[in-house]
Amino acid sequence: MYPQLEIHLDRIRQNLDAVCRITKEEGHCKTLAIVTKGVCADPEIVKIIISEPRVDYVADSRVKNIASYADLAHEKGRKTMLLRIPMPSELIEVVRYVDLCQISELQTIRLLNREAEKAGKKQDILLMIDMGDLREGLFFKNREKIHQTVDEILTMENINLRGISVNLTCYGAIIPKNDNLSQFVAVAREIEEQHGIRLDIVSGGNSSSIYLIGKGEMPEGINNLRLGESFLLGNDTAYCTKLPGTTDQAFILRTQIVEVQQKPSLPIGEVGVDAFGQKPYYEDRGIMKRAIIAIGKQDVDLDSLTPLDTEIEIMGGSSDHVILDVTKASRDYKVGDIVEFTVGYGSMLKATTSPYVERVYK
Ligand SMILES: *Cc1c(COP(=O)(O)O)cnc(C)c1O
Repeated sequence: MYPQLEIHLDRIRQNLDAVCRITKEEGHCKTLAIVTKGVCADPEIVKIIISEPRVDYVADSRVKNIASYADLAHEKGRKTMLLRIPMPSELIEVVRYVDLCQISELQTIRLLNREAEKAGKKQDILLMIDMGDLREGLFFKNREKIHQTVDEILTMENINLRGISVNLTCYGAIIPKNDNLSQFVAVAREIEEQHGIRLDIVSGGNSSSIYLIGKGEMPEGINNLRLGESFLLGNDTAYCTKLPGTTDQAFILRTQIVEVQQKPSLPIGEVGVDAFGQKPYYEDRGIMKRAIIAIGKQDVDLDSLTPLDTEIEIMGGSSDHVILDVTKASRDYKVGDIVEFTVGYGSMLKATTSPYVERVYK
């Protein structure tokens, strides 16, 4: 059956080894969290992560994904970590499946304390600090609020404040630098001094932070990273470079052609909006050889698909169809032929979430 996502497990192992080496041997990470949300917690990939002794936390933004592997992770000596600050409505599941919970709202921490008490558990948390990306976390300039929050957390019987964490390059596209991460480490040291505690985890971000290790610019106090895309696709997401020792070919998407026709490049008639309410743009290239593959925006993100055959161009698509310009291709594409692509983050995410894409392990 097509479309198929080929997952090359040996290449996944290679990438995991590369990011473990960079963070734990070249960098000074005491702990490492590997993130499973980019592949919808694919069970074969999860097995590889869980069997790697240099991985400390298996992390996801969805409690449902974590629930699918929490027992297996614990058996192998890994802990689970929740990346998205929890909904007040999912705290029972958080207490049940999550070992380390990123969180920012005092109101939710109070509720979590109560649920943990009911379950007879001491819940580990990381307090999120916003260093300017303006997604989640207590704003770093509002020190009074940070210290008040820590004060109250320290009175809670069933909450254990393990450290702080920052997330960057997600909403505001702010790049982690020695400068802003040093200020983040300073927040940790200030909390330790003012409250007479030790924070053993200072988590310095996601795949956009790992490049700092290679440049020798990661501030001393950062001792944890949470890595998804860098491990799955080998990307430094700060400057879009490839990390040494990784491959971007762990995932190959294979699709089947359902139509090949000679047609003009300009549509005929009045132009309205497409299936997604967008006004399309067309370039007149004369008569083209156009191929349609049976996959669409429901399964992939067209901006993050790259044909392995460099003579093919993606023209566009709708929910269930993608149109390719195969005019310049040396291969004579026919109905039934398979067209292969490498995937970027968006397409990997959608393809592993779509029930219409079959996974084949290599
Ligand atoms: C998704 C996410 C990560 C991992 O991001 P990558 O870019 O895939 O490494 C880390 N932390 C948080 C809070 C996240 O939401």
